[in-house]
Amino acid sequence: MSSVIKGLRSAEIRYLRMKIWVRQRGICWICEKPIPRERDPNDPMAMSIDHVIPRADDGDDDPKNLRVAHRLCNEQRGSDVYFKKSTQTSK
Ligand SMILES: [Zn+2]
Repeated sequence: MSSVIKGLRSAEIRYLRMKIWVRQRGICWICEKPIPRERDPNDPMAMSIDHVIPRADDGDDDPKNLRVAHRLCNEQRGSDVYFKKSTQTSK
């Protein structure tokens, strides 16, 4: 899981997440559907922070490298930089 940002307190993460959520107008960058603002964190449709360039590939925690996505979308994407749900061929 790459969604945990080290070195930030939870209040800062919440603030950052909300800032990015507003910047994306509440739209998940992976499936392009709205993300509810407040959800149980265990809900698959809850908001999560995704690194565009994974930390493993030298991506950083700069807001420019962060996007909000549904928890489920984020998990499905894993660390594939080029993954995009809308461009995937259906099974
Ligand atoms: Zn999504």
